[in-house]
Amino acid sequence: MLEEVTRERDRLYRILAVNTVISRSLRLEAVLALLMEKAKEVLEAEASSLMRLDEDTQELYFHTIQGDKSDAIRHIRLKLGEGIAGWVAKEGKPVLVADCSKDPRFSRKADQASTFVTRSMMCVPLVVSRGVIGTVQVLNKMNGEFFNETDLRLFEVMANQAAIAIENARLHEMATIDGTTGLYKKDYFVSRMEEEYRRSRNQGRPMSVIMSDIDHFKNVNTNYGHLGGDAALVELARVIRETVQEEGPEMMPGRYGGEEFCVLIPGEGPDKALELAEKIRKRIETEPIHIGDQIAKITISIGVSSWPVHQEFIQGLDDFFRLADEALYICKDRGRNCSSLYDPAATRKK
Ligand code: GH3
Ligand code: MG
Ligand code: MG
Repeated sequence: MLEEVTRERDRLYRILAVNTVISRSLRLEAVLALLMEKAKEVLEAEASSLMRLDEDTQELYFHTIQGDKSDAIRHIRLKLGEGIAGWVAKEGKPVLVADCSKDPRFSRKADQASTFVTRSMMCVPLVVSRGVIGTVQVLNKMNGEFFNETDLRLFEVMANQAAIAIENARLHEMATIDGTTGLYKKDYFVSRMEEEYRRSRNQGRPMSVIMSDIDHFKNVNTNYGHLGGDAALVELARVIRETVQEEGPEMMPGRYGGEEFCVLIPGEGPDKALELAEKIRKRIETEPIHIGDQIAKITISIGVSSWPVHQEFIQGLDDFFRLADEALYICKDRGRNCSSLYDPAATRKK
């Protein structure tokens, strides 16, 4: 008896240890992968997975899979009510199935696609205040044993952890990402910049900011309507996001204003910043920008400010933007569709 209690306590501690990672990490994929790995290990299961509910189609799809046959089943979708997971998502209740072959709710879709044989299964809904957002399941207890009520209670704790992680990530995204362009919102961008600026001053590490502005964007609005203009913004933001992603995870693209985008470049001076600016500018110049079924030609101008090369002109964060903006206006004066580094000697046309 004592041995069993000790074992249960140990399993619970192992599950709760994951909380540290959940509360510290904003990387949802990593958190859910860890949780599903722990579920498999602690519950001694052959496989584990997490399905999320697609709210538009009302179907469950695989988000995280731990097990040998994961690639074979990744594409599978279950309607609400279909299979054990579909039933659990629909009813919002957990189930423990000792013998799947005898349960009429069981769907053979995944087994057929993977040649995995599901004998027993525990499935728990992921519930948040809005309702059910998915399910987690573990399959086949090892050594021919069966999952029991204690296993189910532990699994419910883990389902709760997963639901909290998913909800946290959603709230974080809503608070920090601009819904139209998928770029960081200005407030969040500035707060990250503040951290970076502090680090730069403390460690003498360079940092740069680039700011882009669409050339003659008013004409785009005139020719394609304001909604057409918005569609162009979405496309431009995509090009910026993709280009920045290729450069590495540290760079941060943000939406500074309506048609002004910026990128924070930690750890890099003006050369790298100008190189990125040119890469983005050239891609936008050459890539067709789709507005409905029409294709627009759009160009942008980009200004760059950088620390410590502009140290004597930078007292605070605003100055990064002010200098980049100055450089941007020099580009506009030079005929647009170009990029430049802030130069105190360059003067704007009046
Ligand atoms: P240039 O920058 O080359 O000097 O010319 P511009 O025509 O782009 O002029 P400016 O940057 O001063 O004006 C930006 C225009 O962009 C004004 C506004 O109507 C439009 N705009 C700003 N935000 C949005 C937005 O979110 N959606 C759309 N469709 N238009 C926007
Ligand atoms: Mg503008
Ligand atoms: Mg403009």
